[in-house]
Amino acid sequence: MTEDSRNFIRALETGNHELLQKVPRADVHNHAGLGGDFKSWTAKQGLDIEDCSHHFPDFTDFQAFVDKIYTYPWDRPTPQQNIDRIQSLYDATYELAVSDGVTYIEPGIDALVLDFFEGDIEKMTAALQKQKDRFAHQLEIRPDVGMIRVFPMEDIERRIYPCIDSGFFDALDIFADERHGPPEEFKQIYRYAKRAGMKLKAHAGELLDADFVRRSVEVLELDEVQHGIAAATSPEVMRFLSDNTIRLNICPSSNIQLCQVGSFKTHPLRILMDNGVKCCINTDDAIVFGQKSSDEFFNIYGTGLYTTEELDQLRLNGFPAS
Ligand SMILES: [Zn+2]
Repeated sequence: MTEDSRNFIRALETGNHELLQKVPRADVHNHAGLGGDFKSWTAKQGLDIEDCSHHFPDFTDFQAFVDKIYTYPWDRPTPQQNIDRIQSLYDATYELAVSDGVTYIEPGIDALVLDFFEGDIEKMTAALQKQKDRFAHQLEIRPDVGMIRVFPMEDIERRIYPCIDSGFFDALDIFADERHGPPEEFKQIYRYAKRAGMKLKAHAGELLDADFVRRSVEVLELDEVQHGIAAATSPEVMRFLSDNTIRLNICPSSNIQLCQVGSFKTHPLRILMDNGVKCCINTDDAIVFGQKSSDEFFNIYGTGLYTTEELDQLRLNGFPAS
């Protein structure tokens, strides 16, 4: 056992947050615009946005809160206002990761951001690179580029192909309400990204069922699934994920606050692990859900359903080499 693993286990057993924050961790399901700390970000920006209830029975309530974070107090922000806003949010994400001791992050960058740079992909990636460089000594950043699945396909294509061609992004993702934008519509884009050598991810099985998880993996040839928790209802789908070593990038607090799961105790993570599905622990949208990477490990440990060794394995699973 490595010293990191020993420290990680000791930190959990003794409730020592400071020690746990010194142990390298990965966060591979983290939307770059929503990964920061709500209080310090709003204070720094001088914004009087009301903190949310941390409970969203309806996905549209969640969307409305997210829209507020991106655009408040403007009705129609200018491109420069949009750029300033997202850069402040990305900074907040990287700052929180560093202060929490996360060492490896795959931040999801929305392809829509290309519009803020008036379609100039070089300008966009130069700005993102500059920001990335400021954190490079503390945090390994490998950005995903993500598509909002509810947008018209012509807008998605206009933005995503230059992002793929830029070579700046390591992985591809689709997100937002999965009841819209079936995986078949994205197949061509995923094949294109695969030929470009990108890792393939997609949100699936957060709101829809186990069959949708399998269908997304098969149609899009996914390497990883963002959430994928619905797979726990089907032994066949879990066997499929396990046989093909498809990792689920799980975000427990997100699932609970979006009312897809009742509590940490009843989270399907236990079932998924018992069925040999490779999983890791992530934050999704810390600015909304208020839970850092280290919090998520303590939350899961607090259920008493996982051994410290299992939690350490979940920690290690987040890194690319594992
Ligand atoms: Zn997500």
